[in-house]
Order: sequence, then structure tokens, then C-alpha cells
Amino acid sequence: MLSYWEKDALCAQDVIIVGGGLLGLSTALSVKEKSPRARICVLERGVFPSGASTRNAGFACFAKAAEMLGDIKIQGEKAAAKLASQRAQGLKLLRNRISDSAMEYEELGGHELILIDETEISAADISMLNELLHPYFEQDVFSVQNEKIASFGFAGVKQLIHNPLEGQIHSGKLISALWRLINALGIRVITGAEVLSIEENANYVEVMVKHHQLGEDIRFTAGQVGICTNALAINLLIDKVAIQPGRGQVLVTQPMRGLALEGAFHFNEGYYYFRNHEDRILLGGGRNLDKETENTSEFGINQKIQDDLDRVLKEIILPNTKVEVDYRWSGIMGFSENKMPITQKVGNRQAVGFTCNGMGISLATLTGEQLADLLVSK
Ligand SMILES: Cc1cc2nc3c(=O)[nH]c(=O)nc-3n(C[C@H](O)[C@H](O)[C@H](O)COP(=O)(O)OP(=O)(O)OC[C@H]3O[C@@H](n4cnc5c(N)ncnc54)[C@H](O)[C@@H]3O)c2cc1C
Repeated sequence: MLSYWEKDALCAQDVIIVGGGLLGLSTALSVKEKSPRARICVLERGVFPSGASTRNAGFACFAKAAEMLGDIKIQGEKAAAKLASQRAQGLKLLRNRISDSAMEYEELGGHELILIDETEISAADISMLNELLHPYFEQDVFSVQNEKIASFGFAGVKQLIHNPLEGQIHSGKLISALWRLINALGIRVITGAEVLSIEENANYVEVMVKHHQLGEDIRFTAGQVGICTNALAINLLIDKVAIQPGRGQVLVTQPMRGLALEGAFHFNEGYYYFRNHEDRILLGGGRNLDKETENTSEFGINQKIQDDLDRVLKEIILPNTKVEVDYRWSGIMGFSENKMPITQKVGNRQAVGFTCNGMGISLATLTGEQLADLLVSK
């Protein structure tokens, strides 16, 4: 049985956030800003956040030219520009909350690579996109810088489009910095707390959590519950929002002396992405090779995709360098149909947030603020 002390002081909260990734932590901070006296607790199933937030590539990006051209075809110019500006605004909010040094933010630029067998993006399209984004950024966002292809040492690349306003971070240090802030504000993050069910009644929400030692589930109660479990815990979200899980494969090389490559890069419509971290390369992607297997919320290495990442490393990124891989891992993303973040009431006392489609670093702070608005009564 739970003790009297545990029940009396630890289980009743004003706001519970389920899921301690970037969005859950950001939402808890925004709730505290809006309601400083609220007792807030984040329930996280893992020892660390165990979905995407500590397993991503650390790109702090907001716009890719090819992606925008695709979005324009489907959703129109206005929606495509809005999505890019929303991501940029989200990044600004993140940088207001967490200092650049604490999360090792470096504005080394974003680079889109067009491979030999792909279609180049025309000068007319680049200038159309720059015009579209000008009201938000007051400068050109995209420029073609093909002269850099040789200096980076790439093979099989025919066009490089540069976005000077994008950066990269250390994803572990971002979570550490958020934890420090959370602790300083008296918000409690409970790790190893898997939420089994959420039931709402007229006066409160009951949140059941697995207790690994007692053999008895713990009953938390809260006035409001925010659900930030991304594509995981589908059982908690069933019938509430349509989020599809998608696994992403990543590798990191051993350090390499004299690495010339700096910044964040992507190609093949963003299916492949790589960056430097100090003198290592992080490379991820390749989901398109085996989508059926990768549409899963289970962690795991997909050998077919990891082999292809090895090929990309050796044939495209570092064709003249001997390179050893030091780490390989996977993370779980969430996808929705229209790529837009979601904040949605799913009861009188519950709301769901979702940052979407591999852009959580840019979107979590803004989405967390919007979700907090749904959880804090005005
Ligand atoms: C390989 C990869 C590369 C990526 N690269 C980038 C990038 O470069 N730039 C970028 O902006 N974005 C990137 N992303 C996406 C980004 O990481 C996500 O958008 C962001 O982390 C989502 O944050 P979140 O808090 O919504 O989800 P998550 O980080 O997935 O957090 C959800 C949390 O809920 C917890 N949880 C689930 N079920 C329960 C339960 N029942 N009880 C309690 N807790 C539960 C999970 O353990 C998890 O910690 C990448 C993602 C992956 C996987």
C-alpha cells in the first residue's frame, strides 16, 4: 500500500503533464509562468525522456526550399509561409528561455543538397520563396552556394542551397537545461512513472501510474492533465488525435581530425540529414527505404537502413576519408497528416499537445505555450 505521507503530499497535483520530452517539459514551464502557485508534476515513463527528445539530430531548423515548394502545391503559399514562420518563432522562444551556451546552440546554417540524379531548384523558385518569406525574416532566407560543395568535400552533389538563419544544438544539454529550470521553479519531474490510464470525472482527473515495487498502481489526481506522449502511448490517445509513429535511425562517427564540414545538411526531401558535432558527424534518416518496418513505436536498429547510412557516409559525405562509426541508435517520431502542431482539448480537464514531424526543437516551446493556455483557467 502507499503510505499516508505519499498519498497526502505527493499524489494530488493541480496540473499533471504526461510525458517528459521537450513538449512535456516546455508545457510544464509555461503552465508555471501562467499560474505560479500551481502544483505541477511531469510523469515520465523512462529514466530519461524516452521517445524523440534525447535521440534526435539536434537541428534547429525552420525551412527547407524543396519542402516549402511541396507544401505550396498541397496547402498553398500562405500556409507554407505560416508553417516556416511559426517554426522560426518557436526557435526564438526556445532561445529566450534557454541560453545558447546552455544548449550549445550554434548558428552554422542549414544546407539543402540536391544530388546528381535529382532536379535542381530553379533560381525563379528560390526568389519566389525569398519573397514569400521576406515579411517574416526581412532578408533572403535561401541562396544557392554551389561553390561550397567542393570545399565540404561532397561527392555526387550538384546544388547547395544555404539558409543562414538555421542552427544546431546539443539535444542532451537542452534537456539538462530544461530540467535545471524546472527544478528551480519547483516543478516535479517523476521518472520511471508509466501512466497506465487517465480517467476524468466532474471534479478531477485520475491518472494511474505503474509502481514497480509495490505491485499496486498509484493513483494521482489533478485538476488538469496535459498529454505530451508524442506518438507513444497510443492507448492513452486512442480516438483523441491521429498521430502516427515513425522510427528514425541515427549514427555518430568517431572524432575525425581536420573535419572541414560544419553546419546542418539534408537531402532527398529531408529523408537524410547530417551535421557535425565538434569533430564527429551525426547522420540519420533513410526511413523511406523501409517505411513499413519503420512505422513503429518500438526502438530498434534496422540493419538495412543503417547499411545505407554507412553507404551515404562513405559515398556522399566523406568520400575521401576513412571513417569509423561510434554510436548507432533509434528514436520515435510522430507524424500527422498536415504537419501542423496540434493543441486540442480532449475533455473538460484534459488537453493533448503534439509538435509534429521531426521539428520539435523549433516547435515545442510555442506549442507548449499554446497547450498551457488550454490547461490554465483564465
Ligand atoms: C531520429 C530523430 C531525429 C530527429 N531530429 C530532429 C531534429 O534534428 N530537429 C528537430 O527539431 N526535431 C527532430 N526530431 C523530432 C523531435 O525530437 C521531436 O519533435 C520532439 O522531441 C518531440 O518532443 P515530444 O516531447 O513531443 O515527444 P518525446 O520526446 O517523444 O516525448 C514523449 C515522452 O512521453 C513519454 N511517455 C510515453 N508514454 C508514456 C506513458 N504512458 N507514461 C509516461 N510517459 C510516457 C515518453 O517516454 C517520452 O519521453 C527528431 C526525432 C527523431 C526520432
